Amino acid sequence: MAHVLLFPLPAQGHVPPFLKLAELLSRAGLFITFVNTEHTHSRFLASSPTIDRLAGQPRFRFRTIPDGLDEEDPRLFVHFLRLLESLRTRSREHYRELLVPEDGHDPDGWPPVTCVVGDGMLSLALEVAEEMDIPVMLLRTSSACSVWAYYSIPKLVETGDIPFPEEADMDELVQGVAGMESFLRRRDLPGLTRHAKSVADPTLKFLMTASENLARGRALIMNTAECLESPVLSHLSSICRVIYTVGPLQNLLQNFGSCRPDQDVSNSTAASNSASLWQEDRSCLKWLDSHPDKSVVYVSFGSVTVVSREALVEFWHGLVSSGRPFLWVIRPDMVEAGGETAPSELETAARERGCLVAWAPQEEVLAHPSVGCFLTHSGWNSTLESIVAGVPMICWPFFADQQVNSRFVGEVWKVGVDMKDLCGRSVVEGMVRKVMDGGEVGEELRKSAAEMSHMGRIAAEEGGSSYTNFQKLVDHIKSLSS
Ligand code: UDP
Repeated sequence: MAHVLLFPLPAQGHVPPFLKLAELLSRAGLFITFVNTEHTHSRFLASSPTIDRLAGQPRFRFRTIPDGLDEEDPRLFVHFLRLLESLRTRSREHYRELLVPEDGHDPDGWPPVTCVVGDGMLSLALEVAEEMDIPVMLLRTSSACSVWAYYSIPKLVETGDIPFPEEADMDELVQGVAGMESFLRRRDLPGLTRHAKSVADPTLKFLMTASENLARGRALIMNTAECLESPVLSHLSSICRVIYTVGPLQNLLQNFGSCRPDQDVSNSTAASNSASLWQEDRSCLKWLDSHPDKSVVYVSFGSVTVVSREALVEFWHGLVSSGRPFLWVIRPDMVEAGGETAPSELETAARERGCLVAWAPQEEVLAHPSVGCFLTHSGWNSTLESIVAGVPMICWPFFADQQVNSRFVGEVWKVGVDMKDLCGRSVVEGMVRKVMDGGEVGEELRKSAAEMSHMGRIAAEEGGSSYTNFQKLVDHIKSLSS
């Protein structure tokens, strides 16, 4: 009997795609053990009915392990290397016990774990499973283009692009990422590489280790589709044994397994599958209902971006001056410490024209007809959710993979515009007008976004590449237990 243990990095951008994959594998009839850290699990449990719903399904269980940090530790994302180190050293034995119980007995009488799907950014998931001789597949929750850019770090070191040369021309094309030489500028390299002073930089080392691990997995699973990233995937296939692109997972969930053909899943599925560290404020959906089609700018910078007070004020000005209504997610921890978040007259203007929430049901928001564009930080989940919904993007990438994603959005897929490294009020206003107004640029973007959404839908339909790859993945997992 196939029994899969899934172990994501404890973060908003990682747990939900893992949950979606877990639900799909469960629908395929496999036993599922889903591992969360205690801290993350309690937050997801408090704000997402999805966890309860999945835990109530047969052959689906959650298991938690401590992350080794103090209870009161704020677990800030800027300290994520400390969290990873703590997991590596202090959670090891707990994880080992979940893989193979010391007394040899599964508490629920389940069969032994036959396959681990570990987060590709979490070496622990891979290392311990290898020690126990359990086959491991890796899921990378980011885009293939960013995974390839990370993999190319040693090459970028060779070409002298990393560490960034002093006074480097940020618009110069870099030559170290195969296949992207004609459009990838220095400013498009992954944000985490910008500040590395040498190759000994701990963040660089962490990224390089994650890349080296790709070859160790039995397979690489990705939340993307062949039609979206085919050239990059062929580069990646030279280093991974097998790649299963099964995205967009949110589309696949609508098609695979338990959905009846007569069911309207456009909104209900998004609602029941969402999982968040924060409580969703669903009142914004009503606010959206009161606006005409494609009239609203949705603004969200994801779960970890921190915005300076100055940048925030520029966004305020730009959005208010654009004259468009906007729905803006401002997390309680999103603005750098200190002072008010905006001058009061601006805030008043913003409240008249906008709707502000601490956390939104994003998949549903993007699927709402009144949303006309998405001002995003270009995290991969957000990017893919926007692609699924066919909503053009204005990209303001913050860090990590986001710089690469936004370059693809603006230059390769042409489903948005990239305002990387700029957030002056006139830039924000100009970009919003460009995308939202009825001019040629806006029209072209809407057309490309609709086409790309269609491609993503087809990929996840029966017979499509992601649907077929998912079936192959299930067969592969089953073959490991026979
Ligand atoms: N998200 C959400 N509500 C919000 C803001 C974000 O549900 O108000 C979700 C969003 O749908 C996405 C995730 O948070 O699935 C953010 O992941 P992403 O990879 O875009 O960025 P990260 O948070 O990892 O920087």
